[in-house]
Amino acid sequence: MNKRRVSLMLCALFSQSTFATSERIDTLAQAVEGDVVKWRHHFHQNPELSNREFKTAQYIANYLNELGLDVQTKVAHTGVVAILDSGNPGPVVALRADIDALPITETSGVTFASRATALYNDNQVGVMHACGHDTHAAMLMGAAKVLVEMKSKLKGKVKFIFQPAEEGAPAGEQGGAELMIKQGVLDSPKVDVIFGIHINSQTDVGTIKYRSGGIMAAVDPFKITIKGKQSHGAYPWLSVDPVVTAAQIILGLQTIVSRELKLIDNAAVISVGSIHGGNRSNIIPNEVELVGTIRTLDDGMRQHIHESLTRKAKLIAQSMGATAEVIVPDGFQYPVTYNDPSLMLQMLPTLEATAGKDNVMLANAVMGAEDFSFFQQKIPGLYLFVGGKTKSIPVEQAPGHHTPDFVIDDEGMQLGVRTLSNLVLDYMNK
Ligand SMILES: [Zn+2]
Ligand SMILES: [Zn+2]
Repeated sequence: MNKRRVSLMLCALFSQSTFATSERIDTLAQAVEGDVVKWRHHFHQNPELSNREFKTAQYIANYLNELGLDVQTKVAHTGVVAILDSGNPGPVVALRADIDALPITETSGVTFASRATALYNDNQVGVMHACGHDTHAAMLMGAAKVLVEMKSKLKGKVKFIFQPAEEGAPAGEQGGAELMIKQGVLDSPKVDVIFGIHINSQTDVGTIKYRSGGIMAAVDPFKITIKGKQSHGAYPWLSVDPVVTAAQIILGLQTIVSRELKLIDNAAVISVGSIHGGNRSNIIPNEVELVGTIRTLDDGMRQHIHESLTRKAKLIAQSMGATAEVIVPDGFQYPVTYNDPSLMLQMLPTLEATAGKDNVMLANAVMGAEDFSFFQQKIPGLYLFVGGKTKSIPVEQAPGHHTPDFVIDDEGMQLGVRTLSNLVLDYMNK
């Protein structure tokens, strides 16, 4: 038999077994779908705020224990981490779901709507899964079940990461992905690659959106304190007016993005969100404070903005006879959610095989942020959007994330379970 013939036969065998594997995943995902919906409704009716996901974590841990996994709780306060060891040599692949809810009173009208309340910033508030993290937890539990059943086909280990506080820890507390990493979630066993999905209320059920490179923005806060000289409002020539200086600085910042950045490569945003200064109509104050946010998808652009914003603020202030102190913290509030391009290329066929080629679409980058990015700073990872909108509802009528009437169609979750499972299987068997 010639070499070419052998390799053709091997090829055929391989694709047949790949096909059989993905068919088996479909069957298992279908079998667990009822449970996934049940779990999701349970989480939705029992939402808990960031770093307070005590019962949510317990519910997840109970199920993972039932599956016979090696389960660790109280990671980064309320996180749950479980390991599935295939017993075969191979990589360690992590799957991550965030599990926290938001201080929002639900008005969606779904039968399983939340009526929960909790104390938030000293106020009693409604609590709602208004970002879909209830579906994330349920889908990852579903994928755990599927992968346990597929154990003999796995190589290496799967690490299931149920992460608290994605929406941000309460004031004065640490939390989320960053704290999990500090506590060693990516070590022992050392994780090689991580996958995560976010359900999306404005993307059709059955579809996946992906992007190579930056898919969600890095976030940096900034603060500019302008110091001038106070005077009576009737005698401005006796002042160094920080209010007019602030106005000029705000306008000056507008040309950083519009004139200095190569926007055909990536988007960027600078927004001033708060101005404080003065307390009376006839007093020019001594000081004005500006606070804002910088959003970038590229490290070079981020660096450019930091330097340019600092320079402009200081020199505009100087030109007015005032001074500006500029603070752009060194660390990240959020890094860019960055999909490793070669990993994206490697796993795109898996997405297309799972959802169907026509149902996998290139996404525009989003200027919101996601703390999954902290994992991707350490190891290669992919973050994808999975559709949660009922197809017949026009996109303009689908409420956005973090709104009280936010809705996710249960039917979207099965594709999530299949996607997570296939990513693990295909990565291990590449
Ligand atoms: Zn959110
Ligand atoms: Zn979210």
